[in-house]
Amino acid sequence: MIAIAKPIKQVAIVAGTHGNELTGIYLIKKFERFPHTIQRKTFNLKTLLANPKACELGKRYIDRDLNRCFSSKDLTDPTLKSYEEIQAKKIDSLLGPKGNPKVDAIVDLHSTTANMGLTVILTNNHPFNLRLAAYLTTVHPLVKVYRWLSQSELDSPFLRSICELGCTVEVGAIAQGILSATLFEQTEQLIYAILDYLEAYNSGVAIDVPPTLVLYQALELVDYPRNSSGELQAMIHPQLQSRDYTPLNPGDPMFLTFEGETIFYQGRSTVYPVFINESAYYEKSIAMCLTEKQEINWSTEEDKV
Ligand SMILES: [Zn+2]
Repeated sequence: MIAIAKPIKQVAIVAGTHGNELTGIYLIKKFERFPHTIQRKTFNLKTLLANPKACELGKRYIDRDLNRCFSSKDLTDPTLKSYEEIQAKKIDSLLGPKGNPKVDAIVDLHSTTANMGLTVILTNNHPFNLRLAAYLTTVHPLVKVYRWLSQSELDSPFLRSICELGCTVEVGAIAQGILSATLFEQTEQLIYAILDYLEAYNSGVAIDVPPTLVLYQALELVDYPRNSSGELQAMIHPQLQSRDYTPLNPGDPMFLTFEGETIFYQGRSTVYPVFINESAYYEKSIAMCLTEKQEINWSTEEDKV
């Protein structure tokens, strides 16, 4: 059974948290022009471009990654005054405050240069979110579920952590600053599926959701090989490039140095890398995130945290 009994009354669809991820930005613009496409009978829906200045300039951010500004500590720190830090506080007062929000669910739209298809990102183990994700895997074969758990939602720096329910949608591969009609339409359909699910949930309409869910649990972030000055010494190996969500076994090629030497994966077990060669993560010292493929029963998962 789902642990929440209360209906979803307020939903926010957010995009442009990163100003160069055009898929979500142009979807929001479309939804604002054609509101009937996203209106449903049982809840109110708000759309939001989270980082308008970055969207205008087509940049990921102005001063700081907005999607790392939403920990409770940062939101309540009056000394943080960069553009994104102020913007995060504005969004928190609009949708939040975090922990006691005005909205019941947030869907935050992103895109990635990694080949991650239609990824649904979960950042907590709420059975409502797990069940929603299990449902979405039945909607399109490209849908994958990636789970990143912070110590607590209060520590989570992501915009979506303002409220407990909802998900982040991460679509790719697509370069920053461009649109792909195929990905645009697939993402649009995924959003309609989420909204229809919420509507059915509110209306008490039975939806067929598989009892188990395959998800990719984040284990570890891996940086590129670098020298002592921090300069890159290798690239993603061609055999690994674009192979997000496929098994990486001990001894498989991982990086290729500029001299042509292969660096192999040294781990002990098979992992499933995601965010492989994500352009925005070079500055974060992340070449990929290693995940473990798990099949879980969504209705009992919450007990494990
Ligand atoms: Zn993003």
